[in-house]
Amino acid sequence: MQGQPISNGLVIGRLAKTGRTSSNKHVPLIIHTPDSEWQKYHDAQRKALQLVDELRREAIEIQKSKKSLPTQARANETSDQELPEVMSSYTLLLTDEILSERIKDLVFGQSLDITSAVLQAFKDVRSVVESMGDQHIREKVLDLDACEELLLSSLSDSESLQTHQWSHLKGRIVVIQHPCPNDIIRFHQVGVAGLVSETGSHLSHAAILARSFNIPTVFGAEGILRMSSNGQQVILDAHEGKITINPSRTEQRKAEARRAVELMMQQKLKSSAQSVARTVDGQRIVVFANANGPVDARALKSSGAEGIGLLRTEFLHLNEHPAEQTSFIGTDEQLKVFFQLTAESISPGWATLRLLDCGGDKPYPPNNAMSMREKQNTSEGVFGLRGIRFLLAEQKLLELQLRALLRANTSGNIRILLPYITDVSEIRRVKAIAHSLWLDIPEDERGALHYPRFGAMVETPAAAQMLDHIAAECDFMSIGSNDLTQHYLCVERDNPNTQNLYSSFHPAVLRCIRSILEQQKHLDVSISLCGELASDPIATELLIGLGCVQFSCRASAIPLIKEIIRKTDVDEARRFAEGLLRLGDAEEIQQRLQLRYEELHARLLTAPGSRIRAS
Ligand code: PEP
Ligand code: MG
Repeated sequence: MQGQPISNGLVIGRLAKTGRTSSNKHVPLIIHTPDSEWQKYHDAQRKALQLVDELRREAIEIQKSKKSLPTQARANETSDQELPEVMSSYTLLLTDEILSERIKDLVFGQSLDITSAVLQAFKDVRSVVESMGDQHIREKVLDLDACEELLLSSLSDSESLQTHQWSHLKGRIVVIQHPCPNDIIRFHQVGVAGLVSETGSHLSHAAILARSFNIPTVFGAEGILRMSSNGQQVILDAHEGKITINPSRTEQRKAEARRAVELMMQQKLKSSAQSVARTVDGQRIVVFANANGPVDARALKSSGAEGIGLLRTEFLHLNEHPAEQTSFIGTDEQLKVFFQLTAESISPGWATLRLLDCGGDKPYPPNNAMSMREKQNTSEGVFGLRGIRFLLAEQKLLELQLRALLRANTSGNIRILLPYITDVSEIRRVKAIAHSLWLDIPEDERGALHYPRFGAMVETPAAAQMLDHIAAECDFMSIGSNDLTQHYLCVERDNPNTQNLYSSFHPAVLRCIRSILEQQKHLDVSISLCGELASDPIATELLIGLGCVQFSCRASAIPLIKEIIRKTDVDEARRFAEGLLRLGDAEEIQQRLQLRYEELHARLLTAPGSRIRAS
């Protein structure tokens, strides 16, 4: 079976299907009696209450064990303390009489099946709660959502799993309908061996996370849920996007041999990862790492990263338990500790920390006005309140992050990166707010701090066009090829229907990147490229040819990217890039890059001194 390769790797293992209960996907049953439906409700309610009780006990245990940990390891302490309380409010909601009566009316009065009745009753209660002016009461919507999900999962007799019971997916090749970023974080936490989905797209944030966690992943394997069963043996070749269910012994032996070669190659590349990367003709190229959440500085450094070129702080709040989700944006003290530890751990390299970039396919932080709006299904869409726009609309959240960042910069290597800039005034406003917050810090504390540098993402056509003005307000810039591609080509990055049109190799996108990099010579700022293109080995030589001297890549890609840089000659790369940009077609450009890379790849480890030659 064939799908789209998302995150490289070859794994052999057993399959496990999973999924979330989706209110959109419920198909009402035709044959049911009210009595049997009502009985199902009682059973589901009992199961949900049991689960809540288990979680409450678990939370109390976590609290006890955390008391003995040092402060740094207790970053989520506040939320853990709140967990038992949250569980108590779930119990109250699950046993709420008004809710039960409403469900009963719908089952007996309107002959709805139990799942439809639960969905309808929760919808009714939610709209009453949301219409209340009190922010505190409106926040209860989150509890309602959680209880609805608990009941629906308990009702479901399909193979889908309850949200909190993912542990048996450990070591499995997981199959899911459509993964979202939260799912990927959970899969990473339980340690799945691989991931296959029916839908999904290459540049969605779910895909970016799968790559950053090194989960071999294939999306777009349509029909796999129907054609496979739990426990089947599978070979997942995520290089090729190929899934072999119930492989023969020969297929299995071949896959094992390839896996051994792959491991050997990774080892070899790792051995040279620590050295800096210079092209054949001596051009120094800096390679930073992208990080998507808590940073393992040792792992980043051992991959050869010279600092963090992009930390997507928005992924910090996507935690397993809903009650923990506010922890990283809950207090500026917690954030400050996290930023400070991150920066110190990667010092003297830069720690480029991007302000919260939510919206689009990334969820809004929970427990704030915007998440309510999102819950109400008034989607902000791709051009909505994203990135800096959201932060300027939710200024308290912006101030909280800035206060934390300003107070965290003890080692002097923090750079603050502003997402989704379209207008220079956005940078000015953020800088003015930061400056006034800086002055609020008591003088004796300020003495031990460094004022951070500010930079902008260049990921919208407006930013690309206004580069000189933006550069005048910045210390550095970073090209976000992912968003740049979606906006240049008018193709949403996570829309499966138009995936064939989304390509960062489209000459329009490449010409835009060339123009940005060419202007670098006349501007007093450094420019890196932190979109997925930077981690794609087929693009390395092309990017160098376009003038890129700073890459920010997924950590696991760094050893290979550095090795390719060492084989590249800048003049030759320039000629190669010029030739490609004369072509009018993304597919043709990609094919040529692929061919050239395959030729290089074959020589990569066997001929250490060899360089890429024009084909
Ligand atoms: C980008 O758009 O290229 C980028 C790096 O940001 P993100 O993928 O988080 O939107
Ligand atoms: Mg972006």
